[in-house]
Amino acid sequence: MRPEPLSRVSLKDYDTRYSGEIDRKVAKALENQLEERMAELQEMLYAQGEHSLLIVLQAMDAGGKDSTIKKVFDCVNPQGVHVYSFKVPTEEERDHDFLWRIHQRVPRKGYIGIFNRSHYEDVLVVRVNDLVPEDVWRKRYEQINQFEKLLTESGTRILKFYLHISKDEQRERFQERLDRPDKNWKFSKGDLDVRKQWDDYMRAYEDVLTYCNTDYAPWHIVPADRKWYRNFVVTKTIVEALESMSLAYPAPEEGLDKIEIPD
Ligand code: AMP
Ligand code: MG
Repeated sequence: MRPEPLSRVSLKDYDTRYSGEIDRKVAKALENQLEERMAELQEMLYAQGEHSLLIVLQAMDAGGKDSTIKKVFDCVNPQGVHVYSFKVPTEEERDHDFLWRIHQRVPRKGYIGIFNRSHYEDVLVVRVNDLVPEDVWRKRYEQINQFEKLLTESGTRILKFYLHISKDEQRERFQERLDRPDKNWKFSKGDLDVRKQWDDYMRAYEDVLTYCNTDYAPWHIVPADRKWYRNFVVTKTIVEALESMSLAYPAPEEGLDKIEIPD
């Protein structure tokens, strides 16, 4: 679900339970095929070493960032993938501009980089909680667009996913985290304070999805109440992006066909 560039996004127009015309079994089968293709394309990306792919994942708590990473990338060679989870900035990070810590984690040529949270936190949690004055965070949409343009022009393809869940779905997933001892660690009492700010976050997300949805670094709003559909959409979007990147294995060294391997 790609919003039209420059159009005003209203999240209530996006159904969190949408699952296309596709049925779960078919989606799973297609996803397996897509994953095989992703593995091939990733190997080419690595071998060619000319481009990189940056995947940004944003969502409310329990929106599925962690499990998307686990499920969608279980097919690729871990050697060519870096995952980075952005937490509350350290003192050193706070003493720099907000993009400083982000820029250092951008994938180098040949690699896929996955951001679990990102520079967008600096116009989400930071805005909702007034962590900096409005005239500071307001400028950031344009600063982010310029930063993402620089990355794109330097050979990094950027794909951004907002995993869109409903407030009811979040309640169910939180409840499961409370009920299951093996999931308790995923819940913190502070998650409920953030839940209270749900509407403020939706407004902040709508601005992100409106102002930072560029041709070169598009946002994809993924209906995410159904996990199988979410995984299918994310996988498909990544494979399509890789397919469009003119990846190829590098030309072999000359004369390989004449080599005989000695005993
Ligand atoms: P988790 O993803 O559950 O490990 O939590 C990471 C926490 O770091 C979340 O509460 C985020 O809101 C917070 N966080 C990430 N980036 C920033 C930022 N730039 N400023 C403030 N808090 C942040
Ligand atoms: Mg979390």
